[in-house]
Amino acid sequence: ATPTALMVGTGRGAKMGILIKDGEVLERANDIDTVVFDKTGTITVGQPKVTDIIGENQQVLMVAARLEAGSEHPLALAILDEAERQNFAVTSVENFEALSGKGVQALVDGQRAFVGNERLLTDFEVTDDLKRKMAQLQDEAKTVVLVGLQQKIIGLIAIQDTPKETSETAMSLLKDRGLRTVMLTGDNEHVARAIANEVGIDEVIANVLPAEKADQIKALQVDHTVAFVGDGINDAPALTTADVGIAMGAGTDIAIDAGGIVLVKNDLRDVNTALALSEKTFNRIK
Ligand code: ADP
Ligand code: MG
Repeated sequence: ATPTALMVGTGRGAKMGILIKDGEVLERANDIDTVVFDKTGTITVGQPKVTDIIGENQQVLMVAARLEAGSEHPLALAILDEAERQNFAVTSVENFEALSGKGVQALVDGQRAFVGNERLLTDFEVTDDLKRKMAQLQDEAKTVVLVGLQQKIIGLIAIQDTPKETSETAMSLLKDRGLRTVMLTGDNEHVARAIANEVGIDEVIANVLPAEKADQIKALQVDHTVAFVGDGINDAPALTTADVGIAMGAGTDIAIDAGGIVLVKNDLRDVNTALALSEKTFNRIK
């Protein structure tokens, strides 16, 4: 395309709330055959709520809330919201540590405690009964975190995030274009599949640690041209690794900086609008 055509294309995008960093990004967008999505905050609203507490409710929620007070993860915010709703006084803990893609741990009144997923469970046993409860909740598209205190799992907290209203339409638009859609998430496989089914994504890559997201994109790039759509700090490496990184406008500054395209209106349907714009720009004027 001529420089003028590129300027027209990026200008037209800007008017629609699709910021394209340069003409090269717009050109690469025309070759995309696979679109990979982050889950939380990208496909889902990103404001999860506590739906179920298994175990001695008050104690489970209190320990979890005290641990999560030091975290900014969406799951932490859900737990803290619930503690606030129940008027808990959330007192501080010691030796707080956030473990990326796993959870958090700290000393609660001098006792070792954690909240997070199975990856934290090196020296804990999960009973079959608990495993069954977890699977059941996960099949309902709920993310389950385990709460541990002094070498014992004291309970589970199920947290649900709902897909954005436009996610399903966004996926069908991309499928109509003949594209492959993939969900890439740190969450559990059951939860990921349940949400993928709801919105119509065919493929799921789950249990991916934040540091591994970019490697998963590289693996797909072996025989595909890949766009990645994300919103979080964790997503920045995947956004820069992808052939085209697409950041949600409501995402973190780090994600927005890493994206070659920014969806200002935060509307997932604009992934399709951006690809259509690229197609128009490059198929018309060669
Ligand atoms: P996503 O890819 O959905 O944005 P993350 O990589 O941020 O997910 O987290 C993956 C998983 O790690 C979560 O589903 C949860 O099991 C666990 N986790 C991470 N941070 C926390 C936290 N602060 N509290 C509880 N669990 C956490
Ligand atoms: Mg996210």
